[in-house]
Amino acid sequence: MTQTPTLPNPTDLWQATLQWQPSDVLQSRFEDLYQAIVAINQTLNLTRITSPEDFWEKHLWDSLQGIAPWLKEEALAEKPLSVVDIGTGGGFPGLPLALVYPGWTVTLMDATRKKIAALEQVSTQLGLTNVRFLAERAEQVAHQPSYREAFDLALLRAVGPTNTCAEYALPLMTLGGQAVLYRGQWSAEEEDRLIAILPRLGGQLREVRPMTTPLIQGVRHNVILDKISRTPDKFPRLPGLPAKSPLT
Ligand code: SAH
Repeated sequence: MTQTPTLPNPTDLWQATLQWQPSDVLQSRFEDLYQAIVAINQTLNLTRITSPEDFWEKHLWDSLQGIAPWLKEEALAEKPLSVVDIGTGGGFPGLPLALVYPGWTVTLMDATRKKIAALEQVSTQLGLTNVRFLAERAEQVAHQPSYREAFDLALLRAVGPTNTCAEYALPLMTLGGQAVLYRGQWSAEEEDRLIAILPRLGGQLREVRPMTTPLIQGVRHNVILDKISRTPDKFPRLPGLPAKSPLT
C-alpha cells in the first residue's frame, strides 16, 4: 500500500483568506483526520477528494471558510455551542469544526448508516469526544422532541437545493440560532426564491457571503440564516418531499 502524502499547511493562504491559521497542534490533528479519512475511504466511498491539495482546499479550508467571521472571535471557542451538520457525508464541514472547537458539540447527521458508522470509527481513532452521530434523515430527526429546535448552528454543504436545505435546517435550530448553507454559484433569482419561503419556516436571511477558494479560485457563497420565530410543526414535510418539491 502506498503511503498517503502529508497535507500542505499554507499558513499564508489561511491568513490571507480567513485571517486565521491553525496552531501546530491543530495542524497535526488535521493531518490525522486526513490520514484516517483516506484509510477508511479504501473500503467505503466517503469522498472523491483525496489528494493532499484537494483535501486541504475542498474539505478543510472550505469547511472552515463557512464560519470565517466566527474564527476570529476567540470568545466563541469558550461557548458550548450545539452544532448539527446535516448530510455530513464524509464528515464535512462538521469534523474540521469539531477539531477547531473542542468545546462545541457537533452532531454529524446522514441518512446513510454506513457513512455514519465510518465517521464513528474515524472519530474514535482521533479520540474526539465532542462528536455525536445520527444515522437518520433530517425530516425524521426534526420531528423528534429532543432534537427539534435544539441546535445553535446548522450546517449544510452539498445536500440539495437551497429551499430544501432551509426546510431541513430551520426546524432543528434554536430561536436565535443560525444556519450556514454552503453554496457554490449564487443568483438574485435564487435569493428571491429563498426569501419568499423563509417566513413560513421562521427564518430570515442574514447575509450572503461570497468567497473564492485559494488554490483554484472556485466560487463559494455562504448563505447565513437566522431563526427568528418558531417553525410550525408541519415542517419539515414527509421524508423525500422537501427534496422532491422544494417550497416555493
Ligand atoms: N456534506 C458533505 C456530503 C455531501 S453529499 C460534503 O459536502 O462533502 C450529501 C449527503 O447528504 C449524502 O451523504 C446523503 O446521504 C446526505 N443526505 C441527503 N439528504 C438527506 C436527508 N434528508 N437527511 C440526512 N442526510 C441526507
